[in-house]
Amino acid sequence: MERICVFTGSSPGARPDYVLAAEALAEALVARNLELVYGGASVGVMGRLADAVLARGGQVIGVIPQPLRNKEIDHQGLTDLRIVGSMHERKATMTDLADGFVVLPGGLGTLDETFEALTWAQLGLHGKPVGLLNVCGYFDRLLDFLAHAVDQRFVRHEHREMLLVADTPDRLLMIMERYTAPAVKKWIAAAEA
Ligand code: AMP
Repeated sequence: MERICVFTGSSPGARPDYVLAAEALAEALVARNLELVYGGASVGVMGRLADAVLARGGQVIGVIPQPLRNKEIDHQGLTDLRIVGSMHERKATMTDLADGFVVLPGGLGTLDETFEALTWAQLGLHGKPVGLLNVCGYFDRLLDFLAHAVDQRFVRHEHREMLLVADTPDRLLMIMERYTAPAVKKWIAAAEA
């Protein structure tokens, strides 16, 4: 892996641990010479993550849609800022640029981006790892729901396993580096055990 795309909140969240986790991830990325690809904003956990990578001498590519530049205030200090036309183009560009995805705590946008990366993976449109950093158990109930979805046979166990989970950036990046995408068909027939 050379570049990692990170999805995370445009808000800072309720506790300082989220920004601290972003700083720890920045440290781990720079230590491995991994470039950061992200949404290009200067606000929230995402902005602090970019600041932290840059402060450690790392490279950051931001991808922001023109209509969002005022709202999310595009980061002025990035290595490269790509202005795109739409949210769809943003996600496609970030996916093309990155060799893997890391998810930190965030809101609806973060969830949308995460599940798009996973749904594309389950269709075999990319074979890149998707890793979730479960900071302070923020995603515990989402992981419980995914277990329920597997139990109810709407999600294959092998597809659930495509979402890699760890509590520390070092552990997460290690399991992402070892990941090989499985070849699995998408649909679960009613008769399948
Ligand atoms: P949030 O997690 O809601 O704070 O959003 C995190 C980032 O995701 C922000 O930069 C949002 O602009 C971005 N975002 C939200 N929805 C989408 C979408 N449908 N496509 C691409 N980016 C999005």
